[in-house]
Amino acid sequence: MTRVLLLGGTAEASVIARRFAAQGIDAVYSYAGRTGAPVAQPLPTRVGGFGGVEGLSAWLVAERITHMVDATHPFAAGMSRNAIAAAAATGLPLCGYERAAWEAGEGDDWTHVADIEAAVDALPEEPCRVFLAIGRQTISAFAAKPWHQYLLRLVDPPEGRLPLPDAEIVVARGPFTEAGDLKLLKTRRVNLIVTKNSGGDGARAKLDAARALRIPVIMIDRPVLPPRRIAREVADVMAFLGHPADLGV
Ligand code: NAP
Repeated sequence: MTRVLLLGGTAEASVIARRFAAQGIDAVYSYAGRTGAPVAQPLPTRVGGFGGVEGLSAWLVAERITHMVDATHPFAAGMSRNAIAAAAATGLPLCGYERAAWEAGEGDDWTHVADIEAAVDALPEEPCRVFLAIGRQTISAFAAKPWHQYLLRLVDPPEGRLPLPDAEIVVARGPFTEAGDLKLLKTRRVNLIVTKNSGGDGARAKLDAARALRIPVIMIDRPVLPPRRIAREVADVMAFLGHPADLGV
């Protein structure tokens, strides 16, 4: 009998969860527990880390999991590496769901950098109004350039003081629209954007708005993972499980 661990925390994982539920696939959805009120899922859900590769491997065996689907965010590389290692340790098949990365087009002004530290280095010396569209976990790196005014968009209000002396917070959860992001960038007079190359539709509106307003973007490229089976579409995930993919949701 198929029993799947779906590693989630993304809009795409919610789509996969709905498909699993619609097709009656026995699956457990896993959240890291980073946000206060995670989106409800139509599958049994667990929350919190497994305790590294060993903890995950033990959990997979105890829960009689037969397949793992990693639909975590492209920048959740620690979890993805653990899943690859646990799949090797337990012999379970693993499939990573990867949305296509964003690519610059006509009218875009992107500077590609390898990681957060390189993004900090790429910020100019003169003060700017920077939209830091990178979530909450890594913002402290930007304390190295405290002379910029930072705009942060977060899913939950921050707990405690932020490590940035001049930061404004907008609490909002995607998906976002180009019209909404045009308004945000204009009213906050943003003149530089820092973002991770997450890909997907839910967060790309800011890039369309940046192109329209000719705002430069510092684009943090994705971390590189060891090789694994990749799904680009939900149908590929269903094929991985050996299920027909013709029942939409
Ligand atoms: P990470 O750095 O790759 O993971 C750190 C640790 O958090 C993992 O080793 C694991 O702990 C735990 N963890 C991560 N995802 C988990 C999951 N789905 N279920 C159970 N435990 C999980 O991850 P992250 O970048 O902090 O991302 C955390 C969550 O937020 C993920 O679900 C991801 O999809 C979502 N997310 C991340 C980003 C981003 O930019 N990084 C953006 C949007 C959403 P143990 O070692 O104890 O198992």
